[in-house]
Amino acid sequence: MVVFSFLLPLAGFFIYAAKYHAAFFFLAAALVVNIILLAAFHRRLSKKQAIITLQKEEYFEKTNLLKAELGQEWQTIESFRHKIVNYSQLKNLIEKLGMCLSLEETSTTLSVEVNKLFGHKDITVILYLFHSTIGELGISSSQKGQMQVHLKAKKGDLFDQWVVKTLNPLMVEDANSDFRFDIDKMSQEEVRQIRSLISAPLMEANKILGILRVDSPLPQHFTTDDLRFLRTIADLTSIAVENAQLYQRLEELAIKDGLTGLYLRRYLMERLEEEIARGVRSKYELSFLMIDLDRFKQYNDTFGHIAGDIVLRNLAQVLVEHFSRPGDLICRYGGEEFCILLPDCPKAKAAELAEKLRQKMQSQEIMLRRQKTHVTISVGVASFPKDARLKEELIFKADAALYQAKEGGRNRVCLAS
Ligand code: GH3
Ligand code: MG
Ligand code: MG
Repeated sequence: MVVFSFLLPLAGFFIYAAKYHAAFFFLAAALVVNIILLAAFHRRLSKKQAIITLQKEEYFEKTNLLKAELGQEWQTIESFRHKIVNYSQLKNLIEKLGMCLSLEETSTTLSVEVNKLFGHKDITVILYLFHSTIGELGISSSQKGQMQVHLKAKKGDLFDQWVVKTLNPLMVEDANSDFRFDIDKMSQEEVRQIRSLISAPLMEANKILGILRVDSPLPQHFTTDDLRFLRTIADLTSIAVENAQLYQRLEELAIKDGLTGLYLRRYLMERLEEEIARGVRSKYELSFLMIDLDRFKQYNDTFGHIAGDIVLRNLAQVLVEHFSRPGDLICRYGGEEFCILLPDCPKAKAAELAEKLRQKMQSQEIMLRRQKTHVTISVGVASFPKDARLKEELIFKADAALYQAKEGGRNRVCLAS
């Protein structure tokens, strides 16, 4: 159309020039040639432009594809980086656990390190372990941020019971909307706000040792990756926990009596030394009781050795209940002799406690094959620093007082003089 609008006046001019001026005719012819050349050039230019636009689109497409590929590569690199960081943190944790011997040290290290791994000040890490003798779940250690926390649900809550029952890891995104758990029941047990949590059982050869759990007052705080990581931690650390439990058991075997569960004489001697040193420093009185069952040989002869063992276990139980102040040490000194170490306890108070114990034993009935039996005890009381300043002397004085009680007719308490 544009070319046509040019060509029409030109054609008029050309006809006019051919008719009236020969020179104009050549000029007009040259102009026409120029216009044709220009049109051809324009066409080539348009074609080239179309090709370039096409190429530009192709390049855009390629750039987008490359960008997407780069994004994926970046994600892979990030996830590798994350994995490497996790592995090195796990290695670090295993090394630290390898240096722990006692169960207390192991469980504290575990909760402190897991807290660092999940690195958020609001989360609470709890390690529950099954008690080796009573078989109940109990908190072994707990950590919130840099602090140890004391929690209410000591034996675990609904979430923990679920893990113990199913032996599966658990993830709760929002406790308020999780149909598996009755949150109203929970809130009575635990004042702490728990909206989301991850939890994994600590397993060793099909046996559950305990639970490792991380919870938060915020909903949707954990991802499935977090749960996977916690499971790996639980799998890798359960062996360390079991070793620590075995170590504790061994230690207890070395210092505790198999029949009564009370401490043995060797441990008493160590503690006595420490307590006397503390008594010297703090200037407090320390009392020592030596207890012996009366005519126990006769009891054994009448009812048998097994019955005698039951009596010994029964007395041990009574002693544990009777001397329950923190720091009190109850020990099986040998055979049917027991001794009690009472730090920061005046002699008069110790004598009073001993008398109450004697009365308790005297009034207690022990049933043997539907037969009521009785045992009585004699007690000798001595104290530091009134009666003795050395541990051997203290034991000797308490023993002498006990001898006096036996001589005096048994079933009585005598004080060292
Ligand atoms: P006493 O009133 O003078 O203390 O008289 P006793 O018969 O208690 O004193 P003795 O020291 O002669 O006897 C202690 C007895 O304790 C001897 C032993 O049969 C018994 N005995 C020691 N250890 C155990 C034990 O582990 N189990 C049982 N069943 N008996 C034990
Ligand atoms: Mg005796
Ligand atoms: Mg004896």
